[in-house]
Amino acid sequence: MPIDATQPYDDQNIFAKLLRDEIPSKRVYEDDFVVAFHDINPQAPTHILVIPRNPYVSWDDFTAKASDAEIAGVMRAVGHVAREAGLVAPGYRLLVNVGQHGHQEIAHLHIHIFAGRPLGPMLA
Ligand code: C5P
Repeated sequence: MPIDATQPYDDQNIFAKLLRDEIPSKRVYEDDFVVAFHDINPQAPTHILVIPRNPYVSWDDFTAKASDAEIAGVMRAVGHVAREAGLVAPGYRLLVNVGQHGHQEIAHLHIHIFAGRPLGPMLA
């Protein structure tokens, strides 16, 4: 079920639990700003999620509330994860779903990285 991107942050969401190590994850990278891990239900040969450590419901919440330094840190981390995974030359796709029409299901901002095969034209 898609979530409402304007709802208050719920610290019982699955990625909040993942950040607290209350549920397992296959982490590939972490720093002061983010944790990155393999998606549990990959939609491409490589499907990594990058999430901020801080509690933002959505991309909207993040871009409204995060400091410039944190926004830069999260964006740099996404680039770093993709580079370290060797995705740059073959290429990759970033995706952020927001709210109901964006079909965002988990109420903690997550940036998808898809790679490992030609992904075809952008779906709208
Ligand atoms: O953007 P959206 O909210 O739809 O994506 C949620 C993603 O979180 C899905 O790709 C799903 O497979 C992933 N997920 C996960 N681990 C969980 C629960 C969901 O990687 N425990």
